[in-house]
Amino acid sequence: MSTDQNKFQAIISHCKEYGFVFQSSEIYDGLSAVYDYGQYGSELKKNIKDYWWKSMTQLHENIVGIDAAIFMHPTTWKASGHVDNFSDPMIDNKDSKKRYRVDHLIEAYAETLPEAEGNAVLAQMDELLKENDFAGLKTLIEEKKISCSVSGTSNWTDVRQFNLMFSTQLGSVTDEASEIYLRPETAQGIFVNFLNVQKTGRMKVPFGIAQIGKAFRNEIVARQFIFRMREFEQMEMQFFVRPGTQKEWYEKWKEERMQWHLSLGTDPSKYRFKDHVKLAHYADAAVDIEFDFPIGFKEVEGIHSRTDFDLKQHQEYSKKKLQYFDTEINQNYVPYVIETSIGLDRMFLLTVCNAYEEQDLSTPEKADSRVVMKFPAKLAPIKLAVFPLTKKDGLPEAAQLLVNECKQYFHCYYEEKDSIGKRYRRQDAIGTPFCVTVDHQTKEDGTVTIRYRDSMEQERVPLTEVKNIVLSKIM
Ligand code: ATP
Repeated sequence: MSTDQNKFQAIISHCKEYGFVFQSSEIYDGLSAVYDYGQYGSELKKNIKDYWWKSMTQLHENIVGIDAAIFMHPTTWKASGHVDNFSDPMIDNKDSKKRYRVDHLIEAYAETLPEAEGNAVLAQMDELLKENDFAGLKTLIEEKKISCSVSGTSNWTDVRQFNLMFSTQLGSVTDEASEIYLRPETAQGIFVNFLNVQKTGRMKVPFGIAQIGKAFRNEIVARQFIFRMREFEQMEMQFFVRPGTQKEWYEKWKEERMQWHLSLGTDPSKYRFKDHVKLAHYADAAVDIEFDFPIGFKEVEGIHSRTDFDLKQHQEYSKKKLQYFDTEINQNYVPYVIETSIGLDRMFLLTVCNAYEEQDLSTPEKADSRVVMKFPAKLAPIKLAVFPLTKKDGLPEAAQLLVNECKQYFHCYYEEKDSIGKRYRRQDAIGTPFCVTVDHQTKEDGTVTIRYRDSMEQERVPLTEVKNIVLSKIM
């Protein structure tokens, strides 16, 4: 199982150094598994969000978006099964008091074994998880003498369930206050609005509702940077279909979501599908789209066939009918649902890992290197950097005019400090696909030098063409 921890550490440092991601409340030593996005990170994140939103809503006539609240009526989570089932099996080491998610503990151990042996342990674990056999899981941990990384001992408690939802109080007077949860997924906001949207939007099954928003989970083992956070964002779409057609739609969405990932130009060998062994309480089929991160193949997105479970549960708990009258077959039914659910932060991490490249540019005469973020142009935080060659002779003014023309259309960056070479390197490090230099020749013949990030090639183009060149690559 090959991983590249050094590369991962270098990416984390780069994200901090160049204003992509900071630890939350860093001046107070941070808050575990909570992160802030900086000046370039927030742009990149927004561009990923927009790319997903546009592909889901604008490009699908039968999908509309909503923006539901984070707080929901507490019965929502009773109905959805989260109060009773949204938990992970945990085990504590009695000596160090450190708590582990059982699957993570066993997975970490399996990674230390030769591949075939490791896979056998994982298969055994999957079987026990599927059966909810907690005693069996503990026996497996003991038999394999799996130890705690802190105490080094195998002195374990029993395996127990631990609910991952955060709760808080609604209302100011303690006795009147009721316990509510921070939503652990955005999906339920869609289910409870199913009829509102269907009726007011006059939607016909099959149709979808998309949503982007924050979700919160009290993850026990929250490490690996923004891969697993306690506060994160999801981009989810629930697609409502006629019962009996869910298999077909599941396959279709599986394919379509993979195509979305590949449309960003990523090497297809870095992606794979992984079927779920243990299905969630609501699913009749589920698959993950995994990406080859420097820490190994890991889930970025899930496609789940959720049956009519959620709508039926809300119907039962709310006592309101959540049905659809299908005029084509003259029948009333509770639709089945195919869900596509991708973590925005994980997609961000994927984009950053896929873009990061350390290049040795040394020649026999001179040692040289660069770190370049090869973001797809449409996702790059800054699209165009404009440099006057010198700070005099009217060059800054001419460069500023170009920025003023282009900034209505896309994000530009103006810089006049240091050598052009240094300015290129700084833009490479934040992934700006185009740099333009305004020089003395510009004043004579109206041309500028455009320099391409990935090939580092330069050519002269008319100043008046710059806007269109950039626009043609980012649309
Ligand atoms: P995992 O197995 O990694 O905990 P999951 O299977 O519980 O994830 P889902 O409930 O299917 O995840 O959520 C859908 C998506 O939300 C995931 O594919 C992932 O991209 C994202 N996601 C889930 N939990 C987190 C988290 N703690 N931090 C960041 N993203 C998350």
